[in-house]
Amino acid sequence: MSNYMSYSNLSKMNFEVSEEQKNFLEQVDSACTSIRDHESKCYLEERANDRIVPEFGKIGMLGCPISKKYGGLGYDVLTYMLALERIGKEGNSLRTFFSAHISIGQMVLQNWADEDQKRKYLPNTTSGKSMMAFALTEPTAGSDPASMTTKFEENGDNFILNGKKHWVGNGTIAKVITTYARGPDRRISAFIIDTDSKGFHAEEMKDKVGLLTVKNAEINFENCVVPKKNLLGTKGKGLSIAYSALIDGRLSVAAGAVGVMNDCLEESIKHSQKREQHGALLAKKQLIQEHLTSIILNIESSRWLVYCAAAARQKLHDYIENLKEKDENWQSKLNREEQEYSLLRKRADRLAAIAKLHASNAAFDCSNRAVQIFGSFAYQKTNRVARHFLDSRAITIYEGANEVLKLKIASLELGEKYQAY
Ligand SMILES: Cc1cc2nc3c(=O)[nH]c(=O)nc-3n(C[C@H](O)[C@H](O)[C@H](O)COP(=O)(O)OP(=O)(O)OC[C@H]3O[C@@H](n4cnc5c(N)ncnc54)[C@H](O)[C@@H]3O)c2cc1C
Repeated sequence: MSNYMSYSNLSKMNFEVSEEQKNFLEQVDSACTSIRDHESKCYLEERANDRIVPEFGKIGMLGCPISKKYGGLGYDVLTYMLALERIGKEGNSLRTFFSAHISIGQMVLQNWADEDQKRKYLPNTTSGKSMMAFALTEPTAGSDPASMTTKFEENGDNFILNGKKHWVGNGTIAKVITTYARGPDRRISAFIIDTDSKGFHAEEMKDKVGLLTVKNAEINFENCVVPKKNLLGTKGKGLSIAYSALIDGRLSVAAGAVGVMNDCLEESIKHSQKREQHGALLAKKQLIQEHLTSIILNIESSRWLVYCAAAARQKLHDYIENLKEKDENWQSKLNREEQEYSLLRKRADRLAAIAKLHASNAAFDCSNRAVQIFGSFAYQKTNRVARHFLDSRAITIYEGANEVLKLKIASLELGEKYQAY
């Protein structure tokens, strides 16, 4: 067994929450309940939910896993996942807002930005003054970001970016995004972009199938001027930064999917215990119970994958933060593929990919079953499980399409020379 897969420390995993975490999760629960009706209304009107920032800002959720030093709550990965799980009950659409702002937004800065960049950008994002987004995908580079065509060149104190990104979640409202472009030497670098920069244009992508309260943008960089101090991480290491962001993105999708499935279960139980056909409640019918059992199995199997992946991600986080404290050249040390880092990252990457693959397929299956239990009552978007069904389609595509994740998981096992993508 490869050593990054070792579970020898399983007995040390602790999924218990403290009183403080419990209080926070109760606040998240209240915030979710308070915006529930408005979220449904906004979904039907296909508009962004304007109550998310004030309601979740009040309880600090907009910076849940970000260090207190930058105005966040400084929570561990597991607590953040439990919060996303609860948020996921209100739908993938709401959860996607948080993934874009926090998991593939702020966390990319927390992990890779230098101290000046963190001090400049993070406090406004944790307070809710400024939203974040992550722009990697291009019309001709989806599953294969290494083939991106967005380019940068150097001009005095600035980089000049040209190219197009699409599907950027929160892209129409974000004030700060991270993006990725290829330099004259063909290597890809990462950048922090102020969206009021000259040459930055974002336009809403309309007519989506689901995720109707979160807005996606097509972004054009037309000679976009980016100060050199906004280079993120080491020049030429942009893809590694993007792929590390996807570990957090995948975890967030998987945690939210557990919430979606929980809601499908609750709604299906309520409905089947009051709807009668052929002289008995649906809940008494064996085939309906089979659907419910499948949903329950999906919830439990997904939940524990998420928690294990969160524990692996926490270890990676702790390792890097420890290194940052001890060694100001931590980035170049990591770039040399320091062995322990490499093992911890592979383990978190693998478990996050497994959790996302399983939980997103599971959420799609559960929402499909829930729609079946509701019958015609779930054939309108006013119904919660109908919305879960529409929204769960996207989560098998984004943050790594599930086919590509299957290939990734297999090649991590087989070795790089067997990589089939
Ligand atoms: C709602 C939504 C939100 C998104 N948010 C963001 C965001 O915030 N930021 C961002 O940068 N991007 C975002 N994306 C883009 C998303 O990450 C991509 O859609 C995803 O990576 C897949 O790329 P693609 O759509 O170009 O499909 P393609 O890469 O063209 O893939 C199409 C199909 O082919 C399969 N496939 C691809 N390669 C292989 C292979 N080698 N072997 C077998 N099968 C393969 C895929 O699995 C998929 O089923 C979002 C997308 C959606 C739909």
